[in-house]
Amino acid sequence: MISINQDRLVEQFMHFVQIDSPFFEEANFISLLTDELRKLGLGVENDRSGENGAGNLFAVLPGTNRSLRPILLSMHTDTVEPGRRIQPYLENGQVRSDGKTILGADNKSSIAATLETIRWLQSARPEHGDVELLFTWGEERGHRGAKAFDASRLRSRVGFVPDGGGPLGTIIRAAPYYTSIRAAFIGKAAHAGISPEKGLSAVVMASRAIGGMKLGRIDGDTTANIGTISGGSGRNTVPERVEIEGEARSLVLEKLEMQTRQMRSVMEDAARELGGKVESDVQREYDGFSIGPDEWPVRKAVAASRAVGLRPVITSTNGGSDANEFNAKGIPTIVLGMGGQGYHSTQESITVQELVKLAEWMGALIIEAGKD
Ligand SMILES: [Zn+2]
Repeated sequence: MISINQDRLVEQFMHFVQIDSPFFEEANFISLLTDELRKLGLGVENDRSGENGAGNLFAVLPGTNRSLRPILLSMHTDTVEPGRRIQPYLENGQVRSDGKTILGADNKSSIAATLETIRWLQSARPEHGDVELLFTWGEERGHRGAKAFDASRLRSRVGFVPDGGGPLGTIIRAAPYYTSIRAAFIGKAAHAGISPEKGLSAVVMASRAIGGMKLGRIDGDTTANIGTISGGSGRNTVPERVEIEGEARSLVLEKLEMQTRQMRSVMEDAARELGGKVESDVQREYDGFSIGPDEWPVRKAVAASRAVGLRPVITSTNGGSDANEFNAKGIPTIVLGMGGQGYHSTQESITVQELVKLAEWMGALIIEAGKD
């Protein structure tokens, strides 16, 4: 029976969200978290890889039986915007913001819950192996901290990232490959009334290209989007330059490559047919992963869910997280749903019950991981 101190957990969570940590400005929160980890008697290292004095924090909770398999438990310290001067309210068993900002439960609910789990583990001392704790910076903008982290420091060969959407018990075993697309269409400026025939419209070129793209949900594994268009200089000028930004994602690498080829070729066709130019920049931002439903980390997350009365749901996501980076570094890592509602919006909330259950789930996971 895992016994979590609910009041201390809620209080710490509400304190954490009041320390601003929008991406690339995590340093204050990271220094607070360093103090909290030290109070728990853990050695903490900061790799100083971040911006403005931030870095990834790495700490090890020593196992009560250090011969058992170690696991990585990783969370991110940064939040999205609007994430400054967050004022959390606790009402009817639910924590939410004042409606002007996000709450920051993504991902501070998991951080607060994990600290409370550690307090319980340290007092109850059930049998478990080492827990390698990593607190990353810059997750919300390209998983920058996890990318920068030197994974050769880890003893763990398996990881868990409690940073997923969905109710507690959600076990995300696959996530997409992701490609960003930027393109500039280049035509020729001219007076739109006096000499339009001397111009070449980059707006027409971009719209023909976008009109030819497969976008939205391509299939069960794949999506694509053009998110921004900007360009032109005025109503009476044939536009010389238009820039677009978009993305494509897929759980299946071949499908992603087929999709990005299609987007690239319609852009090139439109430019060529209209006599202009396109300069495109297509980048794989991160790689996807897929871990079998019967593989060890999934089995352990399922067992831990059942141990604390959660219904395990094994699924995939079409969003990326730090887990993509750990998988790319050779550490099979799955994502766990952290409960709550409305992430990345000013309607974000989480219940006290979820915070407590999240802590119990993390505790059960650490114990289950030691059982083979
Ligand atoms: Zn997150």
